[in-house]
Formats: sequence, C-alpha cells, structure tokens
Amino acid sequence: MSYNKLIYNKYFSHIYAEEDVWGYPAAQKIRAAFPDSVYIPIRHYKDVFCKKGQDFSLQKRGPKLILAVKRGAMYYKGSHMCDSFGRGGFIYTSEIMNCLYNCEYCYLRGMYPSANVVIFVNQEDCLSAVERVLPAYICVSYDTDLLAFEHLTAFVHGWMRFCGKHPAAEIEIRTKSAGFNQIENITPLPNVTLAWTISPDEAAARFENGAPPLAARLADVSEALDKGWTARVCVDPIIKFKGWREAYRETALIIKNTVGVERLSGVSVGAFRVSPGFYKRMRKLSPYSEVLSYPMVERDGGMRYPDEAEIVSYLSKLIHTHVNAPSITKSAPVVNALESPAKKIAMA
Ligand code: SF4
Repeated sequence: MSYNKLIYNKYFSHIYAEEDVWGYPAAQKIRAAFPDSVYIPIRHYKDVFCKKGQDFSLQKRGPKLILAVKRGAMYYKGSHMCDSFGRGGFIYTSEIMNCLYNCEYCYLRGMYPSANVVIFVNQEDCLSAVERVLPAYICVSYDTDLLAFEHLTAFVHGWMRFCGKHPAAEIEIRTKSAGFNQIENITPLPNVTLAWTISPDEAAARFENGAPPLAARLADVSEALDKGWTARVCVDPIIKFKGWREAYRETALIIKNTVGVERLSGVSVGAFRVSPGFYKRMRKLSPYSEVLSYPMVERDGGMRYPDEAEIVSYLSKLIHTHVNAPSITKSAPVVNALESPAKKIAMA
C-alpha cells in the first residue's frame, strides 16, 4: 500500500518522557499543550530515539515527541567547516533534535536514526555550561528550527534572557519560521542576530515541507528590522531544480522590494552541500528526490555541486545587483559539524 493512503496519527499523538522531566517548566508547558496525547514513561531517550530499523520518512508523517533531560555535553565546538562569520569561540547547542519542518534536502535526514523529535527540557543546565565558556559565538538553532518550537518550549526566550545578562554571549537564531510574533515583545539585543533562511517560493513549496512561504518569512524579516533587531537573510542552501536560476533571480528582486535591505546586517549565500555519509543515507531514504538527483561530487570533505563556485558567484552577483546588501558572506563548506550521528548522540 502507498504511504499516501495510510492515515497517520497527528503530530505528537504519543509523547515519551524520561521520568525526571516533569520538574522542568518546558515539560509542563508541553504537557499543557498536548493534554490528549498518550504519555509513555521511558528510562532514557535513546531507548526510543536510537532503536534500530526506524523509517525516517514514515515517521515524519506523524512524529512522536520524546522529552528528556540532557546529560553530558551541553554544547559542541563548531567545526572550522561551519559558518561562524569570522568569530572566535564558536560553539553550538542542540536542545532539540529534529524539526517541525521536513525539508527534502535536510541533513538531519542523513544524521539521525529517527524522525521523532527530542526536546531536552533542562535549558538552565545548558545555559550554565555556556556561561562558563564565555565569550562565545553560539548558534542555538542547530539541528532544528528553534523558533518554530517557541510556542512549546520558550527556549528562545531563555536565550534572550541569557544574552541580556551576558554581553559576551553572541548568538544567532536561524529560522525558516514565521514565528517572530513569538518574540516580538522582547526588546532587541545587540548581541542577538535573527537570521532567516530564504528560498524561492517554488523551492519552499516543493522542497521545504511544512515551512512558511517566502512572503511570510520576509514579512518577519521586515518586522524584526522595524523593531530594531539585527537581522540577516541566508540564501543558503541554494538548491538546483528546473528553472532555479530564474527563480533565484526573482527572489533577489522580491527581497529588494519587500525588505529594507540596507538595514540588514548581511546576506549569506551558499550552495547545497552535505557530508558524504549523510548524503548516502539521504539518497537511500529518498531515491526519487529531484533535489538529490542532481550530480554531486565529493570535494573538501563534502558532497557538492560540481559547479558550486559558479552557483555561489551567480547568487552573490544577483544579491549585489538587486539587494545591495551591506555584506555578503559566502558560506563555508559543509553544514554538519559532526559527521557521525552516533558520536553526537553518544555525547548527549
Ligand atoms: S528547517 Fe532546517 S532543520 Fe528544519 S527540516 Fe528544514 S533544513 Fe532541516
């Protein structure tokens, strides 16, 4: 039977919870949001998340939620291959594993054994650990879209309070959500950058399943700028599809016409790239994916388009011409800091 003919449970119909999560506000907030879900006590999140033989694509149609307390590493050193915009002390945190959206090109598809979402409810422990290594540039929306979960976790609020107290903490919150309304009551902070990933409408509709359309993301960018936030747009990853050049040209024009571009702190540009191990698993999961069917070559530790340099140069010129952004960053090589999912999960 085709997957499309099956009826799936609604999102988070079942919530697995380690027994000590209930003392944390995030767990209580989630329980209040899902009063009708089935709650299943578990010993450790890995008992569910790391089970063998899970089908990522099938699970994505009705993911379950796993609540856990994070132990061990609370942050990870950013790889030199990741985008730190030239700052030192680059670390990232992983308070949530997996995402509400389902982008066809997402490296999480190749990284995790499960599409179920893990939320580590003990944010305070993470903040305390990061406090000890300041100054630092911290990417807090890695391996997920943190702002898309804000109505359930309030983790972005937690980071904002942290940054308000610690000027030596500089954070970026990258999102595809239209969730600025979740944080619009917060006074802008000089050490926080809000970054929206932007894709042409056709790409968003076809390959970024569940994510808001281009217009909604740009409306959020404008609103954030109006309120005085530091904001960037990231045309990253650029993905190939039929007519991609024209689609990105139009997108550059749309950005110009809808966002006060001179107010952006910058634009980053990067072509789709992914580590070879993840790419192999992604291809296996989605053998008919258009995005993953374009030829890729292995170079500099990642699978990349053979004409990556030309693609990035094309987009950079478009952005220069149409957007006239204050600064353009050509994104660094491979997005995935840790090649091995097992290594990362083992540290959690
Ligand atoms: S928004 Fe980002 S983390 Fe979420 S599915 Fe898309 S690429 Fe993955």
